[in-house]
Amino acid sequence: MQSLQEEIRNCRKCSLAHTRTNVVVGDGSLSADTLFVGEAPGFYEDREGKPFVGAAGQLLERLLKSIGLSRADVYIANILKCRPPQNRDPLPEEIEACKPFLLRQIDIIKPKVICTLGNFATRLILDKNVNISQVRGKKIVHGNLLVFPIFHPAAALHATTNLSSLEEDFQKLKLALEEDIEFQPQPEQTSLF
Ligand code: URA
Repeated sequence: MQSLQEEIRNCRKCSLAHTRTNVVVGDGSLSADTLFVGEAPGFYEDREGKPFVGAAGQLLERLLKSIGLSRADVYIANILKCRPPQNRDPLPEEIEACKPFLLRQIDIIKPKVICTLGNFATRLILDKNVNISQVRGKKIVHGNLLVFPIFHPAAALHATTNLSSLEEDFQKLKLALEEDIEFQPQPEQTSLF
């Protein structure tokens, strides 16, 4: 991960390299069971070089706490590692340039569950033009990944219905994690034959 972090910090593959203050690589445990994927750094994240430190981040931390977890137990990454000016939506060419970094982070951490936050992250990971409202709170097997899409915390900051959905989905995430831990493959039995 260290060499990947260096590579990401030195990246100049898209024009966001000209406007960023800091590259936001990711944060958390490299042996996390859950990897959260957000969209892109905002003002505070760009300033501090850490994902989800603004208002959406505070909500994410509160939701993690509600299922007995903290930032140190999970890994938090974004699709884009650099802030788009004025927090505009990521452009397709920026997503294409940055996507390999996220896929390599996933490959290194090998989380049990990838929790995608909102439409952009969910569409990227599932490689499908789905709508978050239709897939949120569902466990989706995609290749060798278990994906659990939920609303982006920013979408819940001003809409209480989204907040209730998010709280509900975190409880489901807790159950999904417990189930997956229970169903860990057993060590191979010695064959009698
Ligand atoms: N929103 C995101 O998608 N990512 C961050 O890091 C902060 C806010």
